[in-house]
Amino acid sequence: MMSVDEKQKIANFLDLSVDYLGSGYKSVREKYNFTDDTVQDPAENDSIEQIASEIRECKNCQLCVKRTNAVPGEGSQHPLVMVIGEGPGQDEDAKGRPFVGKAGQLLDKMLSSINLSRNENCFIANVVKCRPPNNRDPYPEETAACAHFIERQISLLKPKFILILGRVAAQALLKTTEPIVKLRTSISSFNVGNTSYPYLVTYHPAALLRNEEYKRPTWEDLKTLSSKLEVKSDAAKEVKSSSLSNNEVI
Ligand code: URA
Repeated sequence: MMSVDEKQKIANFLDLSVDYLGSGYKSVREKYNFTDDTVQDPAENDSIEQIASEIRECKNCQLCVKRTNAVPGEGSQHPLVMVIGEGPGQDEDAKGRPFVGKAGQLLDKMLSSINLSRNENCFIANVVKCRPPNNRDPYPEETAACAHFIERQISLLKPKFILILGRVAAQALLKTTEPIVKLRTSISSFNVGNTSYPYLVTYHPAALLRNEEYKRPTWEDLKTLSSKLEVKSDAAKEVKSSSLSNNEVI
């Protein structure tokens, strides 16, 4: 099994050898479209419950030491949208459920404004499943230790769309150091296993609670997401044409 990087290195070496032994000049070639076979699609016997029970037992990083409860995630088993945040805060750690504090209440309103709901058509999870002390950002080794959980959850749930909340979650999932202003600009896609998932990055609801300036761009992001999803019921239309159109909800 080889990663895209390993395959590319071998291809570069073979191409250079052929060029050198042939014409002596480096040829221009089309980009190869390799797949990564080190990241596998879900094992046949994997399940959301199995992952949750592994998360509750997990001791793969230091965050396990101070947790009250690990927070595996919750929601529809066939989600239209998978919402991915950074990691549990104090309320989530106390309850073992994602986004149940103030930021979570705002998240519920944001989702409902585009006719999404945590129980009906979303699954809500975090990139790290245990609370970082004092709500600090998770360290890279902590997100790395937890990464296989969110990847397995995505592979099993196969959401139609992924909504990523905030810089920390986006950088961890997309394996990048780009700032949020760059990450949130457009719909893109990333691969888990051999499947490509469209995603959109927006501001974290906790950031909106701290700084009102993020409300408008976040509302624009939600409208973009909504336009890609076909969940426009009468309720959604009604909500859209009333309070939400003047940006009151967030
Ligand atoms: N912030 C997050 O990123 N996740 C939660 O579950 C709660 C707050």
